[in-house]
Amino acid sequence: MIAQGRWHATTYALSLKDSSLSVAINRDDIVACDLAGRLYSVFHDGRHQRRSLNGAVLQKWASPMGTPSPGTLPVGTTTERQRRWLTDAEAAEVIDYAAAQFQQLHTALRSPAWEWVTPLDRSAALDELLSVIERAAHFNNIAARSDAARCAEVYQPIGILPPDQYLALVLQATTGCSFNTCTFCDLYQQPFRVKSPDEFRQHIRQVHDYLGASLLLRQRAIFLGAANALAIPMPRLRALFEIIHETCHSEPRRSEESHAGQEEIPRRGAARNDTPPVYAFLDAFTGTRKSVEDYRALAELGLKRVYIGLESGHDPLLEFVRKPGHAGDAIETVQTIKAAGINVGLIVMIGLGGDRFAAGHVADTIVVLNQMPLGKGDLIYFSDLVEEPGTPYPTLAQQHDIHALGAEGRSGQRAALRAGLHAHGVKVSNYDVREFVY
Ligand code: SF4
Repeated sequence: MIAQGRWHATTYALSLKDSSLSVAINRDDIVACDLAGRLYSVFHDGRHQRRSLNGAVLQKWASPMGTPSPGTLPVGTTTERQRRWLTDAEAAEVIDYAAAQFQQLHTALRSPAWEWVTPLDRSAALDELLSVIERAAHFNNIAARSDAARCAEVYQPIGILPPDQYLALVLQATTGCSFNTCTFCDLYQQPFRVKSPDEFRQHIRQVHDYLGASLLLRQRAIFLGAANALAIPMPRLRALFEIIHETCHSEPRRSEESHAGQEEIPRRGAARNDTPPVYAFLDAFTGTRKSVEDYRALAELGLKRVYIGLESGHDPLLEFVRKPGHAGDAIETVQTIKAAGINVGLIVMIGLGGDRFAAGHVADTIVVLNQMPLGKGDLIYFSDLVEEPGTPYPTLAQQHDIHALGAEGRSGQRAALRAGLHAHGVKVSNYDVREFVY
């Protein structure tokens, strides 16, 4: 439903979808929430803010701070995308600002001074719209803090997802990473552990209760977390997939009364094909332990795409960054997964190993990727190395007199990799881990 209205000097463009509501105010600002009223994003003063379920707010802009807006850039100003996490106080301000906008809209819609410019397409939509707006108006900083605290009870920190899975429903079958050796990685701080079936069932129940109507935003896909869930041996993994089928189904009933914590999502006994497709990470090394038959069984259970952090096809570089396994493992794993009819997503790290490894990294990664049977439905992500200060990589690089690649070097690496790829139909995109928000 899309409609436009006016209230005194303020104009509103409203877009209510099956999973979200967005409101453009005077064509300047946009506030968006899901149907539970949880704030999703705010565009204000030329900057985009995105709230994570854990309460953190990422701000992004396309020009240096201080430039009025992207449309009024002085000649020569860089428009490279920039980003930063807001402080708690700044995040609170953004959240309260959005809640106030929703509150004002709620008042406006019920006022005799409200004027429809483009009317609603059905009369029942107004009640539906008002109830979503009311929930969003209540989602102020105090509510958002308590929501984030609840999120922390339900989820272990969600380290990363592939960009095409940012709106998946994350279900954590494991915690931590089974290796945790890679010197550039600080994504998983907790020890690796596989949940028992009862624990996993309980986790799914808690996730459903917590998300409530927010599930509608995340019902198209399930991401089985965390770093390496598919490394679980088959009998246990099969049992966990069965639990997903038992408890997760698309298109949950939408109720006008529904809000976070009150919608009954799990529908036991619902048709098996109601379950959204499942996606997950796998490390190339453990991936070789499963057979084509194993992956075929997982495909039948809904596994659609497996994401593998290849990082590089250059073995000396993998060894230098202490990534477990060899490039040959990745080739074997991808061949096995593809033979089972499952797609893959490969992540290649741009700039890894700096100037020292650049030539070998590019040459061997091309060779490795070209030995994989990639095609339509498969993805390759180029992800720039981010040297996190707490990780061993920056120190090791310094000790080995390795210099980081600049923007030009990284862009050259991306171009060389693209030019060397033979596969047809595989989608290649850039992936900035700094923009991950769940
Ligand atoms: S890069 Fe992957 S395998 Fe390596 S420590 Fe991080 S999550 Fe684990």
